[in-house]
Amino acid sequence: NLDHSQPVQRIKNVCTHCSVGCSVIAEVQNGVWVGQEPAYESPINRGTHCAKGASVREIVHGERRLKHPLKLVDGEWRRLSWDQAMGEISAKLLEIRERSTPEAVFWLGSAKFTNEASYLFRKFGAYWGTNTVDHQARICHSTTVAGVANTWGYGAQTNSYNDIRNTRTMIIMGGNPAEAHPIAMQHVLAARDANRANLFVIDPRFTRTAAHATEHLRIRPGTDIPVVWGMLWHIFQNGWEDKEFIKQRVYGMEEVRAEVAKWHPQEVERVTGLPEAQLKRLAQVFATQKPSTLIWCMGATQKTVGTANVRAYSILLLATGNVGKPGTGANIFRGHTNVQGATDFGLDIATLPSYYGLDEAAWRHWCRVWETDYEWMRGRFATQKLMETPGIPSTRWFDAALLPQDQIDQPTTCKALFVMGHGGNTVTRMPEMVKALEGLDLLVVADPHPTTYAQISNRRDGTYLLPICSNFETVGSRSASNRSLQWGEKVVDPIFESRNDYDVMYDLAKRLGFADPMFKNIAVRDGGSVVVEDITREFNRGMLSTGYSGQSPERLRLHMANQEHFDLVTLKGKEGTPVAGEYYGLPWPCWGTPEMKHPGTHILYNTDLHVKEGGGTFRARFGVERNGQTLLSEGSYSKGSAIQDGYPEFTVAVLKRLGWYDELTAQEKATIERIGGQNVDRVSWSTDLSCGIIRVAMEHGCLPYGNGKARAVAWNLPDPVPVHREPIYTPRTDLLPSAAQMSELQASGG
Ligand code: SF4
Repeated sequence: NLDHSQPVQRIKNVCTHCSVGCSVIAEVQNGVWVGQEPAYESPINRGTHCAKGASVREIVHGERRLKHPLKLVDGEWRRLSWDQAMGEISAKLLEIRERSTPEAVFWLGSAKFTNEASYLFRKFGAYWGTNTVDHQARICHSTTVAGVANTWGYGAQTNSYNDIRNTRTMIIMGGNPAEAHPIAMQHVLAARDANRANLFVIDPRFTRTAAHATEHLRIRPGTDIPVVWGMLWHIFQNGWEDKEFIKQRVYGMEEVRAEVAKWHPQEVERVTGLPEAQLKRLAQVFATQKPSTLIWCMGATQKTVGTANVRAYSILLLATGNVGKPGTGANIFRGHTNVQGATDFGLDIATLPSYYGLDEAAWRHWCRVWETDYEWMRGRFATQKLMETPGIPSTRWFDAALLPQDQIDQPTTCKALFVMGHGGNTVTRMPEMVKALEGLDLLVVADPHPTTYAQISNRRDGTYLLPICSNFETVGSRSASNRSLQWGEKVVDPIFESRNDYDVMYDLAKRLGFADPMFKNIAVRDGGSVVVEDITREFNRGMLSTGYSGQSPERLRLHMANQEHFDLVTLKGKEGTPVAGEYYGLPWPCWGTPEMKHPGTHILYNTDLHVKEGGGTFRARFGVERNGQTLLSEGSYSKGSAIQDGYPEFTVAVLKRLGWYDELTAQEKATIERIGGQNVDRVSWSTDLSCGIIRVAMEHGCLPYGNGKARAVAWNLPDPVPVHREPIYTPRTDLLPSAAQMSELQASGG
């Protein structure tokens, strides 16, 4: 109960239910979270919550919180101390490592982690000596990342939830935001009502979102690609494509046109169930009433052809010139709060943080950042090959226990599973795991609540439950779907005996013998409490490829307190005029150092800029030839954009367009020729270096986006970003605190 005679503290944090990133103000009295209201000044939620957001307090004070560590002994849960639990768990882990290899232990993180916890968990996996570190994006939006990264560079939403207000035509496909992302839906409805924007909802079901549509298109399930191809057929047939945009920036559209020509409207109608006239109307409106945006969620991605769906959507945006401007782009509604951040920070079997990959250059880069000897790190892995090979995806961990031997792609020796989940409950979505979990030597579930993992009924021994703090009992940043970082402050002290993720990871690393090198740059207070801000500062130094370098804890705190503002002048495109200050967070890429005060990139691939100035170029080629077969799409992260890494033909086409091709040496051209002849869909960055592509681009002050930049840094090439990029914003220095105020704020942690 609120005591009106006592002061109430108002503490800002971020809703942890979904990826929209609404800010919440917690009202705390005498250390108890007594009330809550949405943040009125947040441009994303504008003083509103959805029903889920209104109940975040329950995550802290709910009745089902784990109170203390528990251990399963002969089918009975027994209470034990943290020291006992961590001692037994670490001894068992070391025994398994000794008996088998580091690969025998699987580490499952969570899209509900903060960025700092995601980064630390991936780093923990590296020091343990495995790449088998994963999280639930494996079965939700990993296809999105692969699909958009392969088209235009970054594996992320191009625009922003609130930028949808600038659009004139929206397609929602494979999503139901009215129920799943209700605050994002407010922006959709604002565009529909204020701009009289068209809202097409393509869905086999008549959902709550469809009920708000200006037109609901009911398709047969799983026919997304024929729908898009059918639209493109009408677009090309009637000349509605954006010819200038394609000419200037898009490569491979001719191949798409040839493919699309095979899809006659009557055939599309037969396959999709959509009347030809309706599809033609959709195509015309989307292509001509611009800016247009495509919004999707997991209805598109949780499919065997998820990556191909995403590639098709992206190509539709390219054909109609709807990229790199306000009101356009791919607005991808992710699931959990920090699914974007968890992926960026490498909770993934195939890469170190920031999509650097796993090759030697990537490891050397991170070893430099971590100030750890590369050779020592290599010795942590069973073999160097394993160090540079993707780990086993969580969808395949238990194949050995579940499938006949001849059906197993990657044999696994899974003996232990460590789940640090915050409600990440993958087992409910892969129930076949239950049988395999029963056979593990060790199962550790570190979570605020006892999840289904913890309740595998047939396990009798070797299961531990560790009570972990919710995100409201600690600090850290999170990346919403639109790549915006927001800092969450601690609302209340840890409940019961719970400890936060960071401290538990430190404790475990200490018992496993690698805390000293792992925490070399991260301070730990007496009693084992990790200084979370040091984790942010460390990844600021290493996450150069995605531009997580400019958002220090101090800046993020100022930003959350609305004390850092910018005139987002360059966002005022021709086809929509966002209001300054309407964008939130410091979305990556946020280049340079925090002192440079880059405002973050609210809209990716500014196509108002010439390619030479960093404006995007894109790759529309759909499908690759491999072993005589045409595959629908490629699935890899890490493609650059202005000059792509890999894809030699594409890159050469860009170089020729820019007039830089002749600056390659004869040997470099011969290398490109050789690679091009192999018809590969992906070559390594080192190959690109030997092609001279990066050298020439850098000599012109232009560098690839994404992984390209990462690799340049990894190979000790100079970082060009501060050199060649002009400031693209006007800082409102009058609104910034003075140096004295700033140090006062920092000293007080405010
Ligand atoms: Fe929370 Fe998402 Fe609802 Fe916003 S839309 S209040 S972030 S659950």
